[in-house]
Amino acid sequence: MSIRLQFWGAAQTVTGSSHHLECAGQHVLLDCGLFQGRRQQAREINSQLALPAAQLNAVVLSHAHIDHSGNLPLLAKQGYRGPIYMTPATVDLCEQMLKDSAHIQESDAEFIHKRRNRRRSVGLDEGAPAVEPLYSQEDAVQAMELFIPVKLHQPQLLAGSTADAGFTVTSYDAGHMLGSTCVLVEAREQGQTTRLVFSGDVGRKQLPIIRDPEAAPAAEYLIMESTYGNRLHQPVGPVKKKLANLVNRTVQNGGHIVMPAFAVGRTQQVVMLLHELINEKAIPDIPIFVDSPLAVNVTDVFRKHEEEWDEGARQFASLAQDPFGWQRLRYIRTVEESKALNGLRVPFIVISASGMCEAGRVLHHLKNSVENPRNLVLITGFQAQNTLGRAIVQRQPEVKIFGEPMRLRAQVDSIGELSGHADQRELLQWMEPMARALKKVFLVHGEPDAQQTLKAEIEKLYKLDVICPKRGDRYEVGR
Ligand SMILES: [Zn+2]
Repeated sequence: MSIRLQFWGAAQTVTGSSHHLECAGQHVLLDCGLFQGRRQQAREINSQLALPAAQLNAVVLSHAHIDHSGNLPLLAKQGYRGPIYMTPATVDLCEQMLKDSAHIQESDAEFIHKRRNRRRSVGLDEGAPAVEPLYSQEDAVQAMELFIPVKLHQPQLLAGSTADAGFTVTSYDAGHMLGSTCVLVEAREQGQTTRLVFSGDVGRKQLPIIRDPEAAPAAEYLIMESTYGNRLHQPVGPVKKKLANLVNRTVQNGGHIVMPAFAVGRTQQVVMLLHELINEKAIPDIPIFVDSPLAVNVTDVFRKHEEEWDEGARQFASLAQDPFGWQRLRYIRTVEESKALNGLRVPFIVISASGMCEAGRVLHHLKNSVENPRNLVLITGFQAQNTLGRAIVQRQPEVKIFGEPMRLRAQVDSIGELSGHADQRELLQWMEPMARALKKVFLVHGEPDAQQTLKAEIEKLYKLDVICPKRGDRYEVGR
């Protein structure tokens, strides 16, 4: 028997996670993420699926982040009507995130359309074709109707599969974000079973709110992420103190803080830490704004899924009754409220999406902040190549915001400690219990440097065969 694998997204890059498995005539997609990057390239990549939607039997989602879930509406648009399996928390998160993503796609298409019309009115771009959004709100709703919630540790026979032929999946806590999983895939054919683990995004111990990653289940094949395959994070423990120091220093300087953060996960973690710091009087009680409608909606999902919280969040909730700071923090929904922040002349903190500064309201706050050395831009997560966030982290003297060059004179710091991704050592530790039984490891979800470094470490430590597939590469594994 064998499983045929095709790597389609997050192959030698960190975005657009999607892998196609086939066994006994059954086709399964692990993740269906959105590729994020330069507009034209992103559009081209996102509009091609690994296989025609009609051939697909089932989709399994590791977690809700848009680079893992964001292309599901396109799948629905192209006619997929089978089930999409995920944890109950992921169902609720995805409903918010896909609606938001569809809205971004629609606004983006409208923006290009308007720009073309302007250019056309002066005789340019005459023959350019009309721009359609990658997918619409209706496509997103269509995809949501296919969601099937499945709890952790509960084996799920996939649609189309039987007890002797096809796939069963079981999910384990990945400790990366609310509802995140690593997936054990059992493929059966001719009385034989092959076990493959898809790591999803591997989290870290001690992260606020969520539980620590579970031990990886035993398998013969592993598809593992490698985002930080060449890096070591600072330990999570001292991050609160560091955050307090950064806030206090900026307040003394009379500046404000802009924190670009992923609306899902990072924002809620930072909010909880800031809330704790205020309660402990470690930082002054300055205004804190969460300026992202998606973050506001997602915070409601975090409140609802208490079963996903770790012990620390439960304790804090029992003491403060309000771990996400609804009473103290300002959650901003309207554009007017968001714009009003630009006029504030007192120290404040604004947390806003997108996390890589590519779109969203954070751009307005950055535009209003980067040229003043009193202010602090505090980066909270991974910044991919060719993003504004990467240019800021690299402290380039000039950055482009809304196409306009601006001098980067604000302070820049980062709290990588809160990264939701395991670093090199943590990835090696996570796979350790399964290493002995493994026959092959496929590294995905990493840039080439990170992958090559991690590959060398795995080969050295565990004497395993490691492959870093490119988009479209096919492999056959099994007995
Ligand atoms: Zn993720």
